[in-house]
Amino acid sequence: MKFNSTLIINTIAENFKSSRVYDVSADPLPRNSIEYYWVWILQNCGEFGLFLIFYLAMAILYAIGGIVFYLFDKFKLFPSRKIQIKKYPSSYEIRRCINNLVINYITIILPLGIISFPFSKVLGLTHDLPLPTIWKFLLDIFLCLLGEDFFHYWMHRFFHTPWFYKNIHKEHHYFSAPFGFTASYAHPVEVVFLGIATFAPAFILRPHYITFYSWFIVRQLDAVLTHSGYDIELFPFNFMPYYGGTVFHDYHHKQFTCNYGSRFTYLDKLFNTYKEKPTKIPSSEPSNNSLSNNKKQS
Ligand SMILES: [Zn+2]
Ligand SMILES: [Zn+2]
Repeated sequence: MKFNSTLIINTIAENFKSSRVYDVSADPLPRNSIEYYWVWILQNCGEFGLFLIFYLAMAILYAIGGIVFYLFDKFKLFPSRKIQIKKYPSSYEIRRCINNLVINYITIILPLGIISFPFSKVLGLTHDLPLPTIWKFLLDIFLCLLGEDFFHYWMHRFFHTPWFYKNIHKEHHYFSAPFGFTASYAHPVEVVFLGIATFAPAFILRPHYITFYSWFIVRQLDAVLTHSGYDIELFPFNFMPYYGGTVFHDYHHKQFTCNYGSRFTYLDKLFNTYKEKPTKIPSSEPSNNSLSNNKKQS
């Protein structure tokens, strides 16, 4: 059959048009303010409107996270928490990163979300009340963190094979000393594959939509943190067993051939790809991400 992009676009548009107007009378009454606002948004913006609100929230929170760590760097705050000492991004590096992010968020991440929306409905995810309990919500988020880490580990190792590294993953490694904004700085093909790793556990678990959307926000914020360049011990995730966090992933950017997990260390330990960062890495270089970049693997 001949490929017809107009047909595909029309089919997606039809999907959204036919997404039902939420019928609150069919559900139990909201029990708390979160459920009340959940229903209010569904009634006033529809299911696709709700998706767009979460997408925007994700983009805005990503930007806020990036700006917070940018300010840490700009004013050299908390130098004792800085992982790669004296490695601060230049204004050119920040501009380069933000240009890539804007393109990725508009041309890759938003379309991925739009495509996944009707697909998630087919899989049986629900908007209905009651919303999950806090414990069910946290359990599903934890399982998504664990699942994404598993898929990410194997895809990441695959991206470190010579051809894929040279042609795709090298872009993400442009910054050997990452900073908050670099979390989603990557070649578009990598963004798609890592998006699949993010969707996969959610599609297996099929949680409530509030968990599904919240998971993407948690995933993005965790990525901002693990690329921040700052070791913040009090961050709640640090209390999870095998959570390597920022130091773990920062060392991947520094060393290239170790620590492939997103955040957890257990797979790297299991498959002998784990390396512990010895001590703070001294550096007299001012801001030379691109200079030291790609020397180790090209
Ligand atoms: Zn990274
Ligand atoms: Zn890598």
